[in-house]
Amino acid sequence: MLLTGEALQKLRRSHRGDVITPEDERYDQARRVWNAMIDKRPALIARPRTADDVRAAVLFAREHALPVAIRGGAHSIAGRGTCDEGIVIDFADMKAVRVDAPARIATAEPGARWQEFDRETQAHGLATTGGTVGDTGIAGLTLGGGFGWLEGKFGMTVDNLLGAEVVLATGERVRATDTENADLLWALRGGGGNFGVVISFTYRLHEVGPAIIGGLVVHPFARAAEVLTFYNAFMKTAPDELVGAAVLMTAPDGQKACGIAVTYPGDLAEGERIVAPIKQFGLPVLDVIGPMPYLAQQAMLEQAMPPNLLNYWKAEFVSEISDDVIAVAVDAYSRVPSPISSMLFFPIRGAASRVQPTATAFPHRSGYHLGIYSLWNDRAQNAPNIEWVRETWTRMQPHVSGGVYVNELGEDDGADRVAVAYGPNYERLARIKTKYDPENLFCLNANILPMAAT
Ligand SMILES: Cc1cc2nc3c(=O)[nH]c(=O)nc-3n(C[C@H](O)[C@H](O)[C@H](O)COP(=O)(O)OP(=O)(O)OC[C@H]3O[C@@H](n4cnc5c(N)ncnc54)[C@H](O)[C@@H]3O)c2cc1C
Repeated sequence: MLLTGEALQKLRRSHRGDVITPEDERYDQARRVWNAMIDKRPALIARPRTADDVRAAVLFAREHALPVAIRGGAHSIAGRGTCDEGIVIDFADMKAVRVDAPARIATAEPGARWQEFDRETQAHGLATTGGTVGDTGIAGLTLGGGFGWLEGKFGMTVDNLLGAEVVLATGERVRATDTENADLLWALRGGGGNFGVVISFTYRLHEVGPAIIGGLVVHPFARAAEVLTFYNAFMKTAPDELVGAAVLMTAPDGQKACGIAVTYPGDLAEGERIVAPIKQFGLPVLDVIGPMPYLAQQAMLEQAMPPNLLNYWKAEFVSEISDDVIAVAVDAYSRVPSPISSMLFFPIRGAASRVQPTATAFPHRSGYHLGIYSLWNDRAQNAPNIEWVRETWTRMQPHVSGGVYVNELGEDDGADRVAVAYGPNYERLARIKTKYDPENLFCLNANILPMAAT
């Protein structure tokens, strides 16, 4: 839809934050999202500063029948934080994080990234489960589930979400807590951006650090199968608080490798005892597991996944790292076209796994998240990199346990995969969607159809 100058002026009168249109010299920068495969041209990018701005943007979208994309940290691999010819509500200018240390609560605006959130909470010796890469947005990650290093002790990010403030499709501003619109809070704990625009998140915090046991060991790729076999056995007996992830990757020296990264956010001496078998296994080429600041652990993977690269990802869940899974993974990674690509096994364990699948909208409460991640920087190489992910994913199918993390659905994952992501919670989510967004204004996401439209 073509927007008239008059319409834009009207929006600018009711929306105090920036409104960036294609004529603006900042437009090309402002329309970029983390995954450089996504190249969309919104009609305008609204950067609210207040709840009233968000309301104005939502009402403007309705009035002009514009598609609405909502952007927190812009990390959606499917590029859900942008759109063609619609409005992007971009929270780049709403990033405040307020910590109530005595109450162990943080309230954060949706533009905050995990590194910003962690910095504020760690200033008080507190933290909650967040993403493993610091520049990921708190908003999209929280709304999809949120696995992270602290989940074994404290549950997933959604398990620590105490409440949210939301601007609905009508422009109405509501709170979602255990006592107020409790159905909405349940849905926000894993149902994504389907129900409205979240303008603040309230999280439970826990005492963490400042030092924890963290870091990783790296083994030569020739030993990858043995390392993954060890990892699978080790995780079966490790205490809840120990979260360890295994990764197939290429080291900075260009050599393929297999790593185990760990976090133990408890007593340091006890943690050193628990991680000792990982350090003693085999002959690692690198071992940096030991006491370190929690903030350093949260920054550890930043360089492994830099922004502005071309990305194609597929994800699954596996119940364990079986011999079959290992055989497919190691063989596939031996032929990976890009050295920046990786395969990640991240467990859902401890406190995260003791939450019933229907207790929050995020249902996948056991096993390992498997991410097959292609990252590369030359568009001429799109085909082999995409093909590598698809082929690896297809070969993995006989060995997966079913389910996919909603936050790692790709642009080409259809309604069948969306349904798998929400699993047993889809129908309840559809009822809540019907109540809060019956016209499906918020459809640029892993979309739950309102019941009237199914
Ligand atoms: C490098 C990298 C590392 C990652 N690591 C982890 C990890 O450790 N753990 C994990 O669980 N996931 C991880 N993810 C996946 C991550 O959870 C998703 O990419 C998530 O969408 C990121 O949130 P965002 O706010 O940055 O994304 P955005 O692209 O800004 O938003 C994604 C979607 O969330 C919804 N949304 C965002 N803001 C709002 C809002 N204010 N109100 C309503 N809906 C909103 C919208 O539907 C939006 O399209 C990672 C992703 C990347 C790229």
